Amino acid sequence: MKNSEKEVRGPLSLFSAIKDRNIINKELNRGFLRLKFSPPVEEAFTNYYFHHSITLMRISFILGLLIYASFGILDMLIYPEFLKALWAVRFGIGCPIIWAIFFASFYVKKEIHLQLITSIGVFTIGITVIIMLIIISSDPSQKYYVGLMLVIFYGYLAIGLRFRYAIPACWGIAIAYFLLSFFLIRPEFHFLISNSFTLFFANLIGMIGNFLFEKSIRRNFLLSNLISIDKEELEAINLELEKLSVTDELTKLANRRYFEDFLEKEWSSAMRYRYPISLMMIDIDYFKNYNDHYGHRAGDECLVRIASAIKDFERRHGDLVARYGGEEFVMILSGTDADNGRRIAEEIRKKIMDLRIPHPASAISDVVTVSIGAVTLIPSKNIQKEDVLEAADKALYQAKSEGRNRTVYVELN
Ligand code: GH3
Ligand code: MG
Ligand code: MG
Repeated sequence: MKNSEKEVRGPLSLFSAIKDRNIINKELNRGFLRLKFSPPVEEAFTNYYFHHSITLMRISFILGLLIYASFGILDMLIYPEFLKALWAVRFGIGCPIIWAIFFASFYVKKEIHLQLITSIGVFTIGITVIIMLIIISSDPSQKYYVGLMLVIFYGYLAIGLRFRYAIPACWGIAIAYFLLSFFLIRPEFHFLISNSFTLFFANLIGMIGNFLFEKSIRRNFLLSNLISIDKEELEAINLELEKLSVTDELTKLANRRYFEDFLEKEWSSAMRYRYPISLMMIDIDYFKNYNDHYGHRAGDECLVRIASAIKDFERRHGDLVARYGGEEFVMILSGTDADNGRRIAEEIRKKIMDLRIPHPASAISDVVTVSIGAVTLIPSKNIQKEDVLEAADKALYQAKSEGRNRTVYVELN
């Protein structure tokens, strides 16, 4: 019973700070366009997102770095005359920035900080591409303009930036391109217009993709919280059921079923390690008379008091007190030899007398008493558990017939 009380927790529970089904349902039913949750849920979400996205983000940094650096080959092939300046920007500014963000990701502890530096990083990488466009501005075809689109799509869709952090970075790139182009590169008007148009729509498409992605991640977060609430509730119900199935409802002692399982385990362990087991049957004397005299409800109360008095003698891991049925209790004491078993049985009997529960209808005393039949043995292949229970029962019967309120003790080997 003690073992089954241990808590079972899944990995998700680390982040499932929201234990209230209503709060989750409220968030699920908010308008489609709204991303942000209410403050406590938002905080739980950012934690969750941080832990779930950080590794993928790091992989994405490295992939981004490889792609960005491999464009160095293109520099060599298309613009050998500007190679020095292009490489200075690409390998002297761009690559170190991506490295720096990658390393910083191991030190930042807050999701917001990681998002911020990544957002700034994406923007600066975009700026390096614009600087390269300025370097090659004598080429009217502005081939590297396509690189800007790649950075924008990367920022929206590949690096794990959330909507509110992707937008300033990617729109920032488009605006910076428009301004710097206008003042420094001075391309032909139709070039400027068509490039700005395309960047505008690249941003729009990226925003839609990013929005839908974040929306679905947020939804997943809420649903996984719901699942973990369900799981916890189910576990609590199971635990309760399990307890109920092995507990006696009235006295809260272990029931006979649990006792039998327990005896089975203790029996084989005692047989293997050769230690003694003491077993007692404890039966209230003239309990039918008690019921007849005071009524069934008072009888129940008496049973509860006696159960709790006997339970106090359950002191070691291998000890167990159970309600065997009616007004009869059973106790196992593992590793307890005959001398100690006899002593404890007498202590139990005396303690119950000392409760001084009045019993005017008893033929032998004016308070409630018990009779105890007890056996001690070291289990072996030659003896069956059932025989031991029967021996204890016989000892109890003998205690009854010898006048009650006494202990009869049997040593079986
Ligand atoms: P003895 O001294 O020989 O043990 O006599 P006794 O009257 O105690 O034994 P008997 O077996 O004749 O009667 C047991 C009584 O215990 C009968 C039954 O009403 C009562 N009993 C069994 N379970 C409960 C219970 O859960 N609540 C109450 N109040 N009484 C119970
Ligand atoms: Mg009885
Ligand atoms: Mg009885």
